Amino acid sequence: MDYSDILMQYTIQQRKNEIERRNRHNEVIRKIPEIKEIEGNINKLLVSDVKTALKSGDIKHIADRRKQAVALKARIERTLKENGYPKDYLDNVYRCAKCKDTGFIGDTVKKRCSCMEKNIMKIALKEADLSEQSGRFEDFDEDLFSDEMTRYNKTQKKYMQALKKSLEEFSDRFPGTHMNTVLITGAAGLGKTFLLECIANRVIQRGHSAGFFTAYGMFDTFYRHRLGRDVDLDIYFNVPLLLIDDLGTEPLTNNVTVEYLFSLLNERQRTGKHTIIATNLRIEDIRERYGERVYSRVVVSGVARIYALEGSDIRKKQSK
Ligand SMILES: [Zn+2]
Repeated sequence: MDYSDILMQYTIQQRKNEIERRNRHNEVIRKIPEIKEIEGNINKLLVSDVKTALKSGDIKHIADRRKQAVALKARIERTLKENGYPKDYLDNVYRCAKCKDTGFIGDTVKKRCSCMEKNIMKIALKEADLSEQSGRFEDFDEDLFSDEMTRYNKTQKKYMQALKKSLEEFSDRFPGTHMNTVLITGAAGLGKTFLLECIANRVIQRGHSAGFFTAYGMFDTFYRHRLGRDVDLDIYFNVPLLLIDDLGTEPLTNNVTVEYLFSLLNERQRTGKHTIIATNLRIEDIRERYGERVYSRVVVSGVARIYALEGSDIRKKQSK
């Protein structure tokens, strides 16, 4: 499922609407033949309108005819109601009245309708499997974390409590926070994905949009884009909160991985959008793998924040 599938769904919807409109019309004129008659009269009026306009340009005459047509239209609505139908039963049918199921609004400059944005976001969330089962701050269980000391002179449990608090505040204040780019590093099994899910869920719950992607899936899209395939990168660049899980698990492809990652981070910082990245890589690895420019975006930049998780694998505890 990708952007072209969404566009296809809109085309299918428009066709369905047209069929629905025709079915309703057939049903109504079968049950209320009078309506077909009125429609015929409206058509006659409109045709004679055009003729009059072409011949004489008699404006008064045209205005009269228009008035008659409006009156006839009102008579149709009345007749529908008398027969137990809603008065707009024969109007065009749309799921989204704003864009008339085209997915776009605006005449000269076309902009995506909010229904389209929602559909795009839905796919993003579905791809990330951000389902009912995914992590929520409410389910944060501090007892999963050990009393082992970390290098911050705090136990793993204390550190994670503090981190949860700070990320929860971030999510509750979003987008009003200076913490623009957040990097969460640490070995597998320390709760990074869970924290990302908590943030995404809270931010979405508060009515904002968030896109949650694995690095593997995201870079795969970048790679296809590079090959000239018809893929849309907009969501990665424009979603207000982008969460990237497992950075470093994607294949490193020359000219794609580093270039796309840099322009993504750079553009998102430039436009004040928020990005949260989880990775098993250490800070030094990030510099080595993605180079100075990416490093400067996620590590050096004044709006970036890094949390390095330590301690023991909570998955072992969970399965006990
Ligand atoms: Zn719409």
